[in-house]
Amino acid sequence: MNTINPDSNISNYSSVVVGSAFDIRLTDRLPVPGVDFPASPEAPKIPPLGNNVNLQAISLNSGINPMTERYRLLALSKRILWGLVRPGHNLLGPGHNLLGCQRVPVLGRGGVSICRSNDSFVDAGYKSGFYFSGVKTCKSAWVCPVCSFSLAGARAAEVRQAIRFIKKSDGDVYMLTLTFRHSRFDDLGELLGRCKKALVKLWGQRTVKEMMKSHFIGRITATELTYSDGAGWHPHQHILLLGERGLSCEALQAVFGDYWIRALNASGLSGVSDFACNVQPASVVQDYLTKMSSELALGNTGTKEGKQPGHYSPFELLGMCRVRDDYKRLWREFYSVTRGRQCLAWSRGLKSICGVSERSDDEILDSSDGERFIPVITVFSEDWKELLTDYDFGFIRRAPSVDSIIEILDRRGARYRLVLEKFSLVV
Ligand SMILES: [Zn+2]
Repeated sequence: MNTINPDSNISNYSSVVVGSAFDIRLTDRLPVPGVDFPASPEAPKIPPLGNNVNLQAISLNSGINPMTERYRLLALSKRILWGLVRPGHNLLGPGHNLLGCQRVPVLGRGGVSICRSNDSFVDAGYKSGFYFSGVKTCKSAWVCPVCSFSLAGARAAEVRQAIRFIKKSDGDVYMLTLTFRHSRFDDLGELLGRCKKALVKLWGQRTVKEMMKSHFIGRITATELTYSDGAGWHPHQHILLLGERGLSCEALQAVFGDYWIRALNASGLSGVSDFACNVQPASVVQDYLTKMSSELALGNTGTKEGKQPGHYSPFELLGMCRVRDDYKRLWREFYSVTRGRQCLAWSRGLKSICGVSERSDDEILDSSDGERFIPVITVFSEDWKELLTDYDFGFIRRAPSVDSIIEILDRRGARYRLVLEKFSLVV
C-alpha cells in the first residue's frame, strides 16, 4: 500500500443567482434571515453557516503551524481512544487503524518516503508541500485530524465540480440546512438514529419527491456535529440541492420546513419550522465551499468568525480535552457514534450526471501516482516509527525546504536515504 496525502486547494468558483419564473410559486427569491432558536439553556442554535470550517480553530495553540497542530491532535485522539480502537479491532471501515495512522510504516516498502508534489500538480490546485508515502493511514474523516484534512480537500473538489456542471447547464445550487431541538441530556447515538429516520421520511414524502424530480437533479448531504455545554450535541445537515435556476429560497423553505417538521414528529424529534429548516442561495454555498476546501474536515473543524462562545466543532472539542478531562468521555462517545457513518452523501446517480468519478477514500489517500509526487527522502521504517515526534511530522509536511527536513532528521538521529535522480546516497 502506498500512502500519499494530497491536500486540495481548490480555487473559488463564481456563483450567479438569477431570478426567473418557477411554476409552483417559488418565484420570489428572498434573502433568508439568520436563524436562531429562542434563547434558553436547552434551546439549540443553528450555528452560522460555515461555523464548522476554518483554519483558525484547529490552531488551539497559537504560534504552531496548523499542520503540526493536526498531528498533535491526532496523537491526542489516539491517546483518548486507546482501548476503543485496538489493533485488530473493527478491522473493516475507516478509523480502525487510527492508532497506526501516520506513524506505522507499511511493511515491505523499505521505509517511509517523503515526497514533494511536482509543479504541474501544484498548478492543478494542490498545495505545495511534502507528503508521506509508505505509512499507514486510518481514513477517518471524523476522528483523525490528518486524514480528514486530505479527504475533505478532495471531496470539496468533487462538490465544486458538480456545482460547475450545474451552473454551466444553466442551473443553480441551493443550501438546505436541517436541524431539530435537542438538549445536553440527549444521547448522541439516539439523536443521530432518529435524525436519519426523519431524513428518510422527508425524502420519501410524495410532494418532496415530486418537487425534487421536477426541479432538481440531485442533492449532496453533509452531516455535521457541534457541541456546547448548554445544549449538548448539535447534529445538523447541510444539503446542497442542484437544480433549476431562479427558484425562491423562501418558497423552498416553506415546503421543506413543513415536511421536515412532520418527519421530525414522526421520528420522535421536534423543531419549529423557521428554525429547524433553512434554505439559502448559491452565494452562501460558495462561501461554505471556500472554507470547506481550504480546511474542512467535513464539519469537523471550527471557525473563529461568527463563532458562538462555548460552541465547539469536534476537533475543537478534542483540543479542549487538553484542559477538560470530562470532554474525553465526549470524544469517545463521538468516536463510537460516528464510526461507520458517512460525512458526505450524494444522491444516486448525481456523480455520474455531473461527470464526477467515483473515488473511494482509499483511492484518495493511497494514491501512488508517481507523476504527481516525487520522493526526495526515504526514512528507515523503525526510525520513522520511534524517533520522530508528532511535531516533526507536521513540520515536515509544511517544511520550507529539503534541507530543513534533513536538519530535523539529523537532530533526531533518524537514518535516511536521499533519493536523487540517478542514484541513492545512504546517509
Ligand atoms: Zn488518519
